[in-house]
Amino acid sequence: MATIFSRIIAGEIPCYKVAEDDRHFAFLDINPVQPGHTLVVPKKEIDDIFDLSADEYADLQRFAHKVAHAVKGAIPCRKVAEAVIGLEVPHAHIHLIPINSEADVDFRKKAEVSAERMQEICNEIAAKF
Ligand code: AMP
Repeated sequence: MATIFSRIIAGEIPCYKVAEDDRHFAFLDINPVQPGHTLVVPKKEIDDIFDLSADEYADLQRFAHKVAHAVKGAIPCRKVAEAVIGLEVPHAHIHLIPINSEADVDFRKKAEVSAERMQEICNEIAAKF
């Protein structure tokens, strides 16, 4: 069965898409730790990011690098944090989270962002990509 992220990539489940190329996809995390929290995903369905080949992993990071610059350009923040967790969704992904302090990366705390604001943020990041 396809993962939820494969279904998002296929357009079967809606998302706030910010960027795409032939092998990668980026969209806003639906339950963001901070406004602008973005997920970067390989289209190839694989659970553990470190089971990607070294080249696939490098290509994913290259795409994430471009997305991170778009996030930084769209969301005022000191840094864009990058994290890999992968305990919830068995489809490799990188979290990109705009932060001003270490405390801003706490996966136990979620930001409340309206659907309207999510769409605005999505458009702003997409425009910077
Ligand atoms: P983890 O697998 O632990 O790295 O966490 C998976 C992340 O995916 C969480 O931050 C979820 O909020 C996010 N997530 C799960 N389902 C969706 C969805 N349908 N759209 C966007 N983000 C999602």
